[in-house]
Amino acid sequence: MIPSLFDEPNADQLARLAAEASTCTACPLADTRTNVVFGEGNPDAPLVFVGEGPGAQEDATGRPFVGRAGKLLDECLLENGMTRKHVYICNVVKCRACIIEGSSVQNRAPRPAEISACSPWLERQLAILRPIVIVCLGGPSASTLIHSGFRMLQERGKWFETSPFAPYIMAALHPAYILRQAGPAYTAARSSLVQDIASARLKVIEARKSPPKTLF
Ligand code: SF4
Repeated sequence: MIPSLFDEPNADQLARLAAEASTCTACPLADTRTNVVFGEGNPDAPLVFVGEGPGAQEDATGRPFVGRAGKLLDECLLENGMTRKHVYICNVVKCRACIIEGSSVQNRAPRPAEISACSPWLERQLAILRPIVIVCLGGPSASTLIHSGFRMLQERGKWFETSPFAPYIMAALHPAYILRQAGPAYTAARSSLVQDIASARLKVIEARKSPPKTLF
């Protein structure tokens, strides 16, 4: 979306919100995080990806999707002629969810209460970004932003026009899930992510050609 002349630039609004979030202690994930992973990318991007939450490398660096899953996402973007400069990437929860047993630290899925506690940050972030298209990466993101109980196998790649944050929203497979597949299943899953990103890119192009929906 193009900001009006009277809007503060998205980049400034996002930087202020990120600074505010960096000291958040609204849920127990604050106790074990190294960094709040707020999100990054083009602050005026029409296409926003929302994943589940940071992993070890994201927690260590404070940047989203920087591990193997991030590399795969970068590859799939590049196959669609895009880089991170063209999109914005963030997560449903901003701090790493993990299980600590002695010296072992393992990722775990964020709990519903943690997702709920973090949702104001995501909502404020998306309200600033006002993208044309949101792509939820993985079931937890889709269940948070599209509808509860989202069934990834049946509903992946389908467009929804129900989000208060973007005219169009869909879900794609999370790159970390794709990396857990092997052989033909890996090839098919990776190909589905490339196709879903292509579909999202096309949706942005089509939406920009259409006149905006207004009441009058
Ligand atoms: S996960 Fe979200 S709500 Fe919980 S401490 Fe981190 S920023 Fe705050």
